Amino acid sequence: MTAAHMTPEEFRQAGYRMIDWIADYWDRVGELPVLAQVKPGAVRSMLPETAPDRGESWDDIFADIDRVVLPGITHWQSPSFFAYFPANASGPAVLGDLLSSGLGVQGMLWATSPACTEIETLMLDWLQAAMGLPAAFHSASTGGGVLQDSASSSTLVALLAARHRASGGADARAPVADLVAYTSTQAHSAIDKAVRIAGLGAEGLRAIEVDGAFSMRPELLVEAIEADLAAGRKPMFVCATIGTTSSTAVDPIRRIGEICDRYGLWLHVDAAFAGSAGLLPECAELFDGLELADSYVFNPHKWMLTNFDCSAFWVRDRANLVSALSVLPEFLRNRATESGAVIDYRDWQVPLGRRFRALKLWFVLRHYGLEGIRAQLRAHIGLARDFVDRVEGHPSFVLTAPAPLSLVCFRHVDGDEATQAVLDRVNGSGEAYLTHTRLGGHLTLRLAIGGTRTSAADVDRVWNLITAG
Ligand code: PLP
Repeated sequence: MTAAHMTPEEFRQAGYRMIDWIADYWDRVGELPVLAQVKPGAVRSMLPETAPDRGESWDDIFADIDRVVLPGITHWQSPSFFAYFPANASGPAVLGDLLSSGLGVQGMLWATSPACTEIETLMLDWLQAAMGLPAAFHSASTGGGVLQDSASSSTLVALLAARHRASGGADARAPVADLVAYTSTQAHSAIDKAVRIAGLGAEGLRAIEVDGAFSMRPELLVEAIEADLAAGRKPMFVCATIGTTSSTAVDPIRRIGEICDRYGLWLHVDAAFAGSAGLLPECAELFDGLELADSYVFNPHKWMLTNFDCSAFWVRDRANLVSALSVLPEFLRNRATESGAVIDYRDWQVPLGRRFRALKLWFVLRHYGLEGIRAQLRAHIGLARDFVDRVEGHPSFVLTAPAPLSLVCFRHVDGDEATQAVLDRVNGSGEAYLTHTRLGGHLTLRLAIGGTRTSAADVDRVWNLITAG
């Protein structure tokens, strides 16, 4: 028996049907219960325990999208999804991913698909210019940008490059003992994970306390660095955040950058969610001091209309990164690499293989244009401002943190139990989905506005649900 490949015509027909399904889904996603209602194991129980011996019909496969998959989906693309941070999907991005799959290329080396590398480099240069990022991040300078799968990976490679630099450029395989990294108590857990993976050990990370607005206190960073130096340790890396996960707090990047400069530490800036606002001149203050950063990451896959996964990462000096991560086995040698005239992105990331992620970013930037994306970001920020006014004007609710962008953090004035009851009621209704955090000891609700299709009517609806109790 030979494999029964799809004929081009069969592929075309199933493909049209799949695009129709997705278009219809986006049309009706606002009517589905936002949070999946299934019990653990329910999805698996609808499927056979073993793979089919013989191929099945596409009618049967399609039927299972509605029967099996859909009930087990939490609808991240619902206009009433206000949980975590958004994970925008959009038409141009989906088409970019589809083309990437169809081309099926592996962009590990420039030579394995020059377009994959060159379009990616250009997209990162476009964003550098559009966001006014430091000139050194441009590929024509000492640095450059690359797309990673996630902010977690980006932060990990930043830390590995920093560790390499701290070893004096010695082989990254010769670990340096007693290295210390610093971040704030509000930083994302990805920093802890990166520190673990990089082998800095439990003693290798200091969480610096924050002020009343949940921003890192630079004077405490200096104290921690001094204490470590006095103890014979080697301060090496600081991860500052623009837009923390709990409350979009912004660390004082300029002051932290000056401290890193004084002590010779690598400054990595994590703006996973907030970074998209770098397109807005009116938000420039949030990014003040970024020219002092050695590396920077933000996720177009959160709030810039580009499907997961797409994390944009820049370094000021690509030599550190490449020499930290480059391992060149004989089977990857090729003339283009040896000419030194090309970028091989395998040296900028943990895995070897890589997808053609730049296509979706390219399509998004061309379809919407920078002004189209700015309009979307401004609309979300405007909706968040209106929501802040409503919370401030309501006797039962209070804000728990400043809201510089489109995340609003608030709680019930009667305390944690009352706040939990609101969360349970809203999420139990199926009509909207919020998540929580803890700020200043209080259980806090987070309303993250940023869905591709979220409008004022959706925010009105969730406010009515919140205040209906
Ligand atoms: N950093 C911050 C500030 C985040 O908010 C998040 C996710 O929400 C991350 C890092 C992790 O992002 P990723 O899932 O791309 O690793």
